[in-house]
Amino acid sequence: MELKINIEKLGNATGKKVAIIGGGPAGLSAAKELIQLGYEVHVYEKMYEPGGLLIFGIPSYRINKEKVRENIKKLMNAGVIFYTNTDVGKDICLSEIIKKYDAVLIATGAWISKKMNVAGENLSGIYYALDYIIKYNLSKLGYLSEGLPKLSGKVAVIGGGLTAVDACHIALQNNVEKVYLIYRRGRWQAPAGKKIIENLETSGVHVMEFTQPIEFIGENGAVKAIRAVKTVLEKSNGAPELKIVPESQHIIPIDNVLIAVGLLPSIPNDDGKINIIVKEGPRTNIEKVFIAGDATLGPSYIGFAIQSGIKASKEIHTYLTHKEVELKIDKKSAPLRD
Ligand SMILES: Cc1cc2nc3c(=O)[nH]c(=O)nc-3n(C[C@H](O)[C@H](O)[C@H](O)COP(=O)(O)OP(=O)(O)OC[C@H]3O[C@@H](n4cnc5c(N)ncnc54)[C@H](O)[C@@H]3O)c2cc1C
Repeated sequence: MELKINIEKLGNATGKKVAIIGGGPAGLSAAKELIQLGYEVHVYEKMYEPGGLLIFGIPSYRINKEKVRENIKKLMNAGVIFYTNTDVGKDICLSEIIKKYDAVLIATGAWISKKMNVAGENLSGIYYALDYIIKYNLSKLGYLSEGLPKLSGKVAVIGGGLTAVDACHIALQNNVEKVYLIYRRGRWQAPAGKKIIENLETSGVHVMEFTQPIEFIGENGAVKAIRAVKTVLEKSNGAPELKIVPESQHIIPIDNVLIAVGLLPSIPNDDGKINIIVKEGPRTNIEKVFIAGDATLGPSYIGFAIQSGIKASKEIHTYLTHKEVELKIDKKSAPLRD
């Protein structure tokens, strides 16, 4: 899986400026197209370096981070300007950016972890898996001064997606006593896929299917156990429904929890003063503001992010010139999640 950026001929300067908020695969692929079309392109990125989840989310055994950096370098050499450590909505207002540029592309991904909304979720020793994974990558890349909170004893990862799978791998690397993957449905329904869940089992993860946590139990403010119930898929008239098995409550002793039950788009909103709504395709409710990648509909895949960045740049070009442009989507450079 790679993000391949090959800058072809740069077009004549249009004299127009486009701001891209977020330097993940969606923002980067849009930056490539827009600079080639002759726009001045500025990328605002809240992290220490661009790359998004390619750098700070996906583990290095699945993606070559140096190759990602080489591709970003090509964009810099072509004239794309990156403002790193700039959190739009905090360090600079989104409204200010909208005023300054001819068009704005929101490509801020989906970094907000869904809460489980069960008692005890705030106990210490419980982390949202994506936050933990980002910290883990920050620490591996030498950006984290305060050190990574250590996982120990029995670790429960809750969820069935790739974030949960990567969290299990991190827990295994910590040489903890036991890693449980707790998922409320069956493995064949897991978004990560049955095969990947089975590979986890081979690596030593204890997979608990049809198990749903209903409370985190603490001792002196730290998590000590999970109260869970068993679930079952029951056929009623329509599609099978997930039901709680009566009298199935049980306690799972635990020392750390990583919650990975879903991610939501993280769209800047200037402290609630701006409300970006996705309209048709990459268009939003706000004139000259476009959207691409995971920020559009929530978590997806690198391939989707790249393709949607390309589509958004095409739409931006049409908006700014009233002319259509044919942009190639190289499917090979945009493979889907394996
Ligand atoms: C743990 C994990 C593993 C994954 N593994 C795979 C995989 O193996 N294969 C695959 O195809 N997909 C995988 N994915 C999904 C894939 O990484 C994403 O779908 C893809 O990165 C989305 O691209 P994006 O550009 O939309 O967003 P992101 O990559 O999330 O980038 C968004 C960027 O916006 C920046 N940003 C956010 N808010 C602001 C702000 N207010 N101001 C400035 N900058 C901001 C962020 O710092 C980030 O750089 C994985 C996802 C996760 C969480």
